[in-house]
Amino acid sequence: MTQTEKIPFVDLVTPHKELENELVNVFKSALGTASFIGGPLVEGFERDFAQFCKTRLCVGVSSGTDALRFALMAAGVQPGDIVLTVPLTFIATTEAITQAGARADFVDVDPRTYTMDPEKLKEYLEIQCVLDQNTGQMIHRNHRKPVRAVIPVHLYGQTADMDPILELAARYKMVVIEDACQAHGAEYFSKKENRWRMAGSMGHAAAFSFYPGKNLGACGEGGAVTTNDEALAYKVRMLRDHGQSKKYYHDMEGYNGRLDSVQAGILQVKLRHLAEWNRKRRETAARYQELLAPVVDAITLPFEPNWSRSIYHLYVILIPERDKLIEHLNGEGIGTGIHYPIPIHLQTPYRALGFKEGDFPVSEKVASHAVSLPMHAHIQPEHQQRVVDSMLGLLSVTSNVAVGN
Ligand SMILES: *Cc1c(COP(=O)(O)O)cnc(C)c1O
Repeated sequence: MTQTEKIPFVDLVTPHKELENELVNVFKSALGTASFIGGPLVEGFERDFAQFCKTRLCVGVSSGTDALRFALMAAGVQPGDIVLTVPLTFIATTEAITQAGARADFVDVDPRTYTMDPEKLKEYLEIQCVLDQNTGQMIHRNHRKPVRAVIPVHLYGQTADMDPILELAARYKMVVIEDACQAHGAEYFSKKENRWRMAGSMGHAAAFSFYPGKNLGACGEGGAVTTNDEALAYKVRMLRDHGQSKKYYHDMEGYNGRLDSVQAGILQVKLRHLAEWNRKRRETAARYQELLAPVVDAITLPFEPNWSRSIYHLYVILIPERDKLIEHLNGEGIGTGIHYPIPIHLQTPYRALGFKEGDFPVSEKVASHAVSLPMHAHIQPEHQQRVVDSMLGLLSVTSNVAVGN
C-alpha cells in the first residue's frame, strides 16, 4: 500500500475502462445509423429501466431536473400550487417546483434517516392547513393555496419512509413525485403491502438522474420519469419534445428535454451492471460501519432502518468538527464531499420565502456536520482501511479491527 496514492471520493474512470469496448460500440452503431435522437436505443433503455424499477413505464429525458419538472407538470401541478419537499436536498428539487410555477414549502427530515419525517408532514398538513371541503385538498392558512404535491427525496441512496407519506397523500389528495435521483435500485419494505418496493415505483411518478456521478450515470446528461400512469407518461413525452403529438403538430408548448440515443445506449449497457455495483456499495458501507465502530461516540454513522435497503449513493457521517476532519483527510490525499453545506431554505434564491435559521433544525444540523466519505463500487478495501485509519488517527483512537473480507 502506497501512502501517497490519492484516494478519490468517487471513481468515474474504472467502470468506463472496464466497459470501454461495449460503450464505444454504442457510439459506433449510432454513427452508422445517424440515430442520435429517439429511436430504438431510447426505447430499449426505457423498457429495461422500467423493468428494473418494476414500473410499467419509463420516459427518458435530458436530466433529473427535467424529470422532476416534467413529472410535476404532467401530474397537474399548476401555477400557485404549493409543493412540499425537504430542505436537505440538491437545489434541482426546488428548482423544478418553482419552474413548474408552484411554491416550494418544506417539512424537516428525520434525525436518523435524513429523509422526510412523516410526522412533520402530518403536522404541516393538520396544523398549518385547512381542508377544502369541495376539493378534499389541504389549503395553507397563510398562503391560501392548495398543497397539490409532495416530493419525498430518497437521499444518499436510501428511500424515504413511504407508507405514512403515501397514506397522508391519499387522505389529502396530494400527488407524490419521488425524487429518486440518488436511489437507482434502492428498496423500501412496505408494511402496508407486506413487500419490498423499488424506489421509483411508489409515487404517482418518480424522477431519476443519470448525471455521471450517480449510481447509474451516463457519459453526459440524462434523466428519466418512471410511472404506472399511461396519461402521465404521455404528457411527459409531450413535454420533453416541444409538445408534439406528431412531428410539427404541437398540442401545447413543451421543452427540448429529450434523452439522446447515445446516452440511452450507454445507460442500457451500464444498467446490466447496476445491481452488482449497488451490491458492492452496500458491502463497502457495511465495512465502514464495522471499521468505524470504535468511534461511534464521536461520529454518527448512517442509519439503515429495517425497512430500507440503501444503495449508498453517498456514505455520509456526521461530526461536529467537520472542517477539521475534511482538512485532515485532504492532507492525506483522501477526497471527501459535503452533501449539502447549506439547506435549501437558507439558499439565496429562496430568501423571498422568508425562512430563517432554526426553521428546520434537523436539516440545518446535517448541513453543518455532514461529511461524505469515499464511496463507489470500485473502492479497494485497503483504501477504505486507509480512510478509516486516518480518521481514527485524528480522533486519537487506535483501531484493532482488521478489514473484514
Ligand atoms: C442529481 C440530483 C438531481 C438533479 O439531477 P440532474 O440530472 O443533475 O438534473 C435532483 N435531485 C437530487 C436529489 C439529485 O441528487
